[in-house]
Amino acid sequence: MREALFYKKLDNNRVQCLLCPHECVLQQDSTGVCRARRNTGGCLYSLNYSCVTSVALDPIEKKPLYHFRPGSLILSAGTFGCNFKCSWCQNWTIAHSDAKTMELKPAGLAEMARQYASRGSIGVAYTYNEPSIWYEFIYDTARLIKEQGLVNVMVTNGFINREPLEQLLPYIDAMNIDVKAFTEEFYSKYCKGTLSSVMDTVESAARSCHVEITTLVIPGLNDSPEEIESLASWLASINPDIVLHLSRFFPGYKINDIMPTPRETLENARNSALLHLRHVYLGNI
Ligand code: SF4
Repeated sequence: MREALFYKKLDNNRVQCLLCPHECVLQQDSTGVCRARRNTGGCLYSLNYSCVTSVALDPIEKKPLYHFRPGSLILSAGTFGCNFKCSWCQNWTIAHSDAKTMELKPAGLAEMARQYASRGSIGVAYTYNEPSIWYEFIYDTARLIKEQGLVNVMVTNGFINREPLEQLLPYIDAMNIDVKAFTEEFYSKYCKGTLSSVMDTVESAARSCHVEITTLVIPGLNDSPEEIESLASWLASINPDIVLHLSRFFPGYKINDIMPTPRETLENARNSALLHLRHVYLGNI
């Protein structure tokens, strides 16, 4: 455990976490929505610091990042926990259940990254579960990675407060940010989050590093051509070269009553997005 950044102490040994827009108020011995931060003795601690559930060497395209160092490999690591509650989560075994972890300190991951660089790896991707709630570990590791001349990549839901994001961005070279839909209703109902916070993250990140966006197109929930076009139009207002990945949905975790996204729906979504963006790819097909 490491004492968390971005929290304040309240009365009666309570604390308020300020890392993400949930801003959980935690009683003594209670844990936040993300399951990764806990109030112990009136201080907030990161429970997943140096805790790794998965580490692997992946193609950068698997993040997905198609326009950032294409053809390269990247050492990819994840921990446990998530600050969203998506019913279709494809990584629920590490995001929402008790997964096995191994200890790997920032210096250890940086040393692994240095060794893998000789096998073609360009740096470290923080991925698999939601990395923003691994904040302190990433903050400490990312600086070591940069000192080695390697890159840091985050694959994130973008649900993080402005101040911690701004402090981390100088060390981040590329992000893939999920924009799960383009309505507040969807975010509130299916993710327990807010679209406006994610939009703020996309805008800040796009000013600082390479950004690509992923949207999982779920039949009947976020697949209307109008919604996809609104998303693309807003992205184009930031930068029409932002890459959008439209990904095919497959049922899983708690959702088994929705069919996989039809190919035609994905093609229609892509055509809508191409009215505003130059680079739109279909994924999971
Ligand atoms: S990071 Fe976790 S503990 Fe902190 S506000 Fe978000 S969900 Fe709550």
